Amino acid sequence: MDLPAVTVPTIAIEGSTDRFPVRRIYCVGQNYAAHAREMGANPDRQAPFFFSKPADAVVPGGGVLPFPPRTNDLHHEVELVLALGAGGSDVGVDDAGRLIFGCAVGVDLTRRDLQAEAKAAGRPWDMAKGFDRSAPIGALARGQPPASAAISLSVNGAARQAGKLSDMIWSPAEIIAALSSYVTLAPGDLIFTGTPSGVGRLLPGDNIEASIEGLPPLSFRLA
Ligand code: MN
Repeated sequence: MDLPAVTVPTIAIEGSTDRFPVRRIYCVGQNYAAHAREMGANPDRQAPFFFSKPADAVVPGGGVLPFPPRTNDLHHEVELVLALGAGGSDVGVDDAGRLIFGCAVGVDLTRRDLQAEAKAAGRPWDMAKGFDRSAPIGALARGQPPASAAISLSVNGAARQAGKLSDMIWSPAEIIAALSSYVTLAPGDLIFTGTPSGVGRLLPGDNIEASIEGLPPLSFRLA
């Protein structure tokens, strides 16, 4: 048997033919107070917590996705995604912006039924969060994230999620600083920064449109 050929996933960069190579995908949990409350948590008392998805969970540019298996409660979570062009560990908040190459709109697709089972049993979230094609992402815009832009998601034209990036409990710089105390960050890392309230169920055939003011939009359809 030949050695397997493994390719690095990449995402588009606005206004460029270059593509951004993805090394790792980190995600922040419950970073908007109203979403933390809708998940039954107290947003006032917790430091940021993290989970991850495999790099090849990205779906660059959206398109048509097969409906994921093993779930009866697939949820959408629209999020600002940071793309790192530099790395480091124990990065200070004041220094964190220097790591950011650009940002994009992403959707943290979640098998909520599997997540609820995992939470109840004290088991890992991987199969709830890190499944195939669980990270649709739009084109990257170079530069720092907009500070107070609107973030929203609609399904079949109906608004589901709407918020402001300024509603994040932990800012992009604080997220990078905190995450870099656990792991060494590196160029190619993506960080999903959490979702505003209004998460909900997706069904086969749904058309999803996700947007953040000032960034290239993302749309995809579930087959
Ligand atoms: Mn999320």
